[in-house]
Amino acid sequence: MDQRAGDGAPIGPTTRLECKVCWHVYDPAEGDPVWQIPPGTSFTDLPDHWTCPNCSTTKDGFLILHDD
Ligand SMILES: [Zn+2]
Repeated sequence: MDQRAGDGAPIGPTTRLECKVCWHVYDPAEGDPVWQIPPGTSFTDLPDHWTCPNCSTTKDGFLILHDD
């Protein structure tokens, strides 16, 4: 496992990520109704062609959202 976000931090199954263009947050607990992604899907399990439902930024354009 060596899937990492743009800032180099590891992505876990519940890690939320934020679009750096429009600040849309992908939350694995909610999935993505636009792409018909079911709740419980981690960011790393999203299809490679998945893009931000708001601005079409690719997965590379998302940064980990830290809770602290
Ligand atoms: Zn976006």
